[in-house]
Amino acid sequence: MKSTGMTRQVDELGRFVLPIEIRRALGINVKDTLEIFTDEERVILQKYQPACSFCANADDIVLFAGKRICRACLNELKKL
Ligand SMILES: [Zn+2]
Repeated sequence: MKSTGMTRQVDELGRFVLPIEIRRALGINVKDTLEIFTDEERVILQKYQPACSFCANADDIVLFAGKRICRACLNELKKL
């Protein structure tokens, strides 16, 4: 993990602005959904992608090494 050197203040409703430089770099567009993770003292934001990372299937998704993957692709990986 690397520091961007940027800071933003949280307002009274818990909102803050995700800087445009970060949004551009990560392909985050208006109306995109972000998934929120926590790790000890950290908050991690990730662009929400409900479908399988490999085949775009949105059914029967499990988390594998931090990625969403469908059972069919998981079974293919197990063969490797
Ligand atoms: Zn898949």
